[in-house]
Amino acid sequence: MSNFNEERVLSIHHWTDTLFSFTTTRSPTFRFRNGEFTMIGIPVEGKPLLRAYSVVSPNYEEKLEFFSIKVQDGPLTSRLQHLKEGDSIIVSRKATGTLVLDNILPGRNLYLLGTGTGLAPFLSIIRDPETYERFERVVLVHGCRQVNELAYSELLSKRLPEDEFLGEEIREKLIYYPTVTREPFRNRGRITDLITSNALFDDIGLPPLDVACDRVMMCGSPQMIQDLRAILIGRDFQEGNHGEPGHFVIEKAFVER
Ligand SMILES: Cc1cc2nc3c(=O)[nH]c(=O)nc-3n(C[C@H](O)[C@H](O)[C@H](O)COP(=O)(O)OP(=O)(O)OC[C@H]3O[C@@H](n4cnc5c(N)ncnc54)[C@H](O)[C@@H]3O)c2cc1C
Repeated sequence: MSNFNEERVLSIHHWTDTLFSFTTTRSPTFRFRNGEFTMIGIPVEGKPLLRAYSVVSPNYEEKLEFFSIKVQDGPLTSRLQHLKEGDSIIVSRKATGTLVLDNILPGRNLYLLGTGTGLAPFLSIIRDPETYERFERVVLVHGCRQVNELAYSELLSKRLPEDEFLGEEIREKLIYYPTVTREPFRNRGRITDLITSNALFDDIGLPPLDVACDRVMMCGSPQMIQDLRAILIGRDFQEGNHGEPGHFVIEKAFVER
């Protein structure tokens, strides 16, 4: 049996010149935990060209959704950005990843810190009812350079709080905190600076990160991960992974090639 399913593209949305999202059919045999990633791609010269992608859609939805960068000379995304409705894509039958609730110790507040397409895994986690059973507050911070890169902001600030099933939990528990670095906006600055200066905590009305009650998941550039990891380790947070839950978990949103 092949390790891959072939799925059909159902819709495409271009956010900017460098970011787009798309939905596909979902084979009923494809199972994943919210926060995980899988390998997706297209055939190129007869061989599958695959890359890791976080699943944006929660695991109870019938469709799959992905949020993608467009790298101009990127082997996959230079092609993938031209996807059209009805096209086929290849999706691995397996999903994996460290950004899952089971890798995090119990706590009061869950911080989800993502930059760029690093938002993707958190979009499924914040639509998982278990997230709100485990945590009193869920703080989703999305950092970008420009305001138009704050993809999904309308879903996060308007549609989800009114959702028929999750709306009440989301209104009570989810704090969405978008921030940009390169132009005026209500929240400005890098996530690392917002944490070390306490500006984030002042803005959302919660105390600064404390290992006694706060848990953190992060997904972003290798540099952002390295900097945040150092900040957390400096505050006695321990990293979790499969089999050993911790105070924080990390996933790189991409690797430098
Ligand atoms: C665990 C994991 C999960 C991932 N999830 C996603 C996802 O949900 N969405 C997504 O778009 N990508 C994601 N990626 C990155 C993805 O696997 C590819 O790198 C990306 O699709 C570009 O593919 P490419 O073949 O066009 O270029 P590549 O040769 O893969 O990348 C070329 C260069 O582009 C830059 N780059 C690649 N991806 C990104 C990105 N996402 N943001 C900013 N710069 C980038 C890097 O500098 C990289 O060296 C993930 C990577 C990992 C390791």
